Amino acid sequence: MSTPIDLPGWNHVYSGKVRDLYRPEDGSGTMLVVASDRVSAFDHVLEPGIPSKGELLTSLSMWWFDQLAGADGDIAVPNHLTGDTAPDEVAGRAMLVRQLDMLPIEAVVRGYITGSGWAEYQENGTICGIALPDGLSNGDRLPEPIYTPAYKAPLGEHDENISFDKTVELIGAERAIELREAALSIYSRAATAAAGKGLILADTKFEFGVDEDGTLRLADEVLTSDSSRYWDREAWETGTTPSERMASFDKQIVRDWLAENWDKQGTPPELPTEIIDRTAARYRELLHKMTS
Ligand code: ATP
Ligand code: MG
Repeated sequence: MSTPIDLPGWNHVYSGKVRDLYRPEDGSGTMLVVASDRVSAFDHVLEPGIPSKGELLTSLSMWWFDQLAGADGDIAVPNHLTGDTAPDEVAGRAMLVRQLDMLPIEAVVRGYITGSGWAEYQENGTICGIALPDGLSNGDRLPEPIYTPAYKAPLGEHDENISFDKTVELIGAERAIELREAALSIYSRAATAAAGKGLILADTKFEFGVDEDGTLRLADEVLTSDSSRYWDREAWETGTTPSERMASFDKQIVRDWLAENWDKQGTPPELPTEIIDRTAARYRELLHKMTS
């Protein structure tokens, strides 16, 4: 696994599956979030990384933060960016952010059914306890977008889908409702923007934190190909198999390859060059389609 680099003036404090976090030596409340090229699937970090992934993810996140910051009379979504410029050594793949008190919940919104949502639906006809119509197929559009939160497990453990009521137990009713409304509203804005670019935003995961004034802020990465499933609308409309319909711009290529070549026991196998190249190309293509 790639090791975090030394940055003068900064102390490395934490590494998640993809990002390395630093705090300033002067002890102020700022944090530096550096996106590496690491790729994770099924909660495992894989080898090797995807070249330039850290930059592609950061560019897309920054673009979305800007879009959501309130242009065109839309409601501004407060976020964690300080607006300062990252050190040269990590330029392009780092964000300077306020250190927030992160909520232990991944605020997932799904407009389409697939992945862990599809798995749960096949077993119980529900996702996170929400009853859905009978007869849905993998990749179908849902009658309306649904909020399907997950408990954010500590590093090394697996995130777990939970009910809305469970989020109330974890963070209180008021905050849980605020979180759900914010997530649904950002999803719907983003899905409309994506549709304008010929893309379907099938699902996405937001992370929120609370600042010292108690304000809820959108944090972490937002609407990237790591945190979201984007599909090509035309392929979805004309495709006949699930993989044709869900031609994705994200790490689905990696997930599919792993699902076929690994029994999810022990260390995952090394990714072949062809899978890495195709994934890198898809990440790049998404950034281009969305932002141009
Ligand atoms: P994954 O995203 O792959 O599920 P992860 O969330 O554990 O894994 P990373 O995204 O690599 O890991 O690490 C980023 C970490 O930084 C996360 O724990 C995230 O919650 C945290 N984080 C992001 N923004 C902020 C912020 N503004 N303040 C405090 N912590 C933050
Ligand atoms: Mg993360």
